[in-house]
Amino acid sequence: MSNYNVKSMKAEEFISDEEIRETLKYAEANKNNIELIDSILEKAKPQKTATGYVCKGLTHREASVLLACEIPEKVQEIFKIAEDIKLKFYGNRIVMFAPLYLSNYCVNGCVYCPYHLKNKHIARRKLTQEEVKAEVIALQDMGHKRLAIEAGEDPVNNPIEYILECINTIYSVNHKNGAIRRVNVNIAATTVENYRKLRDAGIGTYILFQETYHKESYLELHPTGPKHDYAYHTEAMDRAMEGGIDDVGLGVLFGLELYKYEFAGLLMHAEHLEAVHGVGPHTISVPRLKRADDIDPDTFDNGIDDDTFAKITACIRLAVPYTGIIISTRESQEVRSRLLNCGVSQVSGASRTSVGGYTEEERPHDTEQFDVSDQRTLDEVVRWLMENGHIPSFCTACYREGRTGDRFMSLCKSGQIVNCCHPNALMTLTEFLVDYASDETKEIGYKMIEDELNKITNSKVLAIAKDNIENIKNSNRRDFRF
Ligand code: SAM
Repeated sequence: MSNYNVKSMKAEEFISDEEIRETLKYAEANKNNIELIDSILEKAKPQKTATGYVCKGLTHREASVLLACEIPEKVQEIFKIAEDIKLKFYGNRIVMFAPLYLSNYCVNGCVYCPYHLKNKHIARRKLTQEEVKAEVIALQDMGHKRLAIEAGEDPVNNPIEYILECINTIYSVNHKNGAIRRVNVNIAATTVENYRKLRDAGIGTYILFQETYHKESYLELHPTGPKHDYAYHTEAMDRAMEGGIDDVGLGVLFGLELYKYEFAGLLMHAEHLEAVHGVGPHTISVPRLKRADDIDPDTFDNGIDDDTFAKITACIRLAVPYTGIIISTRESQEVRSRLLNCGVSQVSGASRTSVGGYTEEERPHDTEQFDVSDQRTLDEVVRWLMENGHIPSFCTACYREGRTGDRFMSLCKSGQIVNCCHPNALMTLTEFLVDYASDETKEIGYKMIEDELNKITNSKVLAIAKDNIENIKNSNRRDFRF
C-alpha cells in the first residue's frame, strides 16, 4: 500500500516518494502511447464556454507522461497548447518585477548557495532602513512597482521584525510619482504566527522554493542549519495558508535533482494545496542553478539543457493553467524569449542579486547571490517585450482589490481577466512610459497602447481606460485600476 495521500498534512505523504517513482514508471511505460497522449493533450486544451474558456489542467501522472514523451509532433503540440493557454487566460500581458536583497547573513549550509554559513570570504551585508529607502528609490526611478524581497535565514541578523520593518519602509517610500504597490516575500520557512505577521504587513505572494522534492538529496544539499528539516520546509506553504496568506509561490531549483522527479513532486505539491486549502499555488518559479561566488554549477550532475527547460515550462503551463509562471534574470535574453512562448507570465527586469546593488553604479559582485545572465536595463526589457508583441504590465490591482487566493482564481477561470487585467496593464504601462521610459520605448509603447485599446470590446471599460490614460499623460494622477 502506498503512503500517498494528497490531503495529508505530512510532507512525506503528500509528496510520497513511492508515488513519484510509480508516476515516473507509468510515464516511461506510456511515453509512446499515442492514444493516451492524445487524450491527455485533448484534456489540456482550453474548452470554449458561454462566457469564455475553461481549462481542466492535468494530474501529475498525466503531465508526467507528456514530459516523458519524445515524439516530435506531440512535443510541438505541447508547446502550441501552452502558448494557447497563456494567451487565452493571461492575454499577451507579462507582469514585471524585481528582487530586492535585504541581507545575505545566513546560518544554513545549502551547498549550492554562496550565502552558506561556511563561506567566510563573501562580504556579509544587511541593509539599514535608510539603505532600504535608497534601494527602493532607485527601483522606483527605473519604474518598478512590484518587488520580491530576498534574505538569507538568520534569526539574529534577519529576524521577522527586521523583515517587517523593511516591508513597512518599502511601502512608505513615494519618490516622485513612484510607489511599490506589491511586496512579495521570499524568506525561509517560518511559523504560522510569523506568516500571520507577514499577512498583516500586506505582503503579496509568499514565495519559497522547495529546491528539491527528493528527500534524501534534500538532506545532503542542506546538511546544516534550520533548512535541513525537510518536513518543516515542505509543509511551510500549509503554515503560510493557515496564517492567512492566500497567495503562495512554489518552485524547484532545477539542476539539483532529476528533473522528472522534481516535476512530479512540484505538481503533487500544487494538488495538495488545492485539495487542502481549495486554492493552488499563485505562481510557480522555474530557476536553474547558476554560477556564484564559490559555487560551480558543473559540479552538480543534473543540469538541464534549454530544450528540456522549455518543455518542462510548457508542461507546467498545461498542468496548472491558472498559475502564473515566473522566469528570472538567471536566464539569458535568448532563453527568456523562448520561454515567453511556453506559458511564462511574469519576468524580472534589471535585477541585481547583491545586497545594496541598486544604488551602486557598477554591478557589484562581492555580495551577489548568483550571476545574472540578462543584464539589460528595465527600459530595454520593456521595449524588447513590446517589440515581441507582449504588453509589459506593472499592475498590482488584484491583490489590492482583495482578489487573492480563490477569488483571483475564479476571476481567472471566468475569463473576466481580460476586462480588468488588460486595461490595468495598459494604464500601468502608460505610467511607465510617461514617468520613466526613453523616447524610443515611448514611441513603441504609445503605439502598442493605441492598438491594444482597440481590442477592448466593452464600451464602458474602454471609455474609462481612455480617460484614465489621458489623465496619466496630462497630470500627476496615478494608480487607476479596475
Ligand atoms: N533564504 C531563503 C530560503 O531559504 O528559502 C530564500 C531566499 S534565496 C535568496 C532565494 C533562492 O535562490 C533560493 O531558494 C534558491 O533556490 C536560489 N538560489 C540559491 N543559490 C542559487 C544559485 N547558485 N543559482 C541559482 N539560484 C540559487
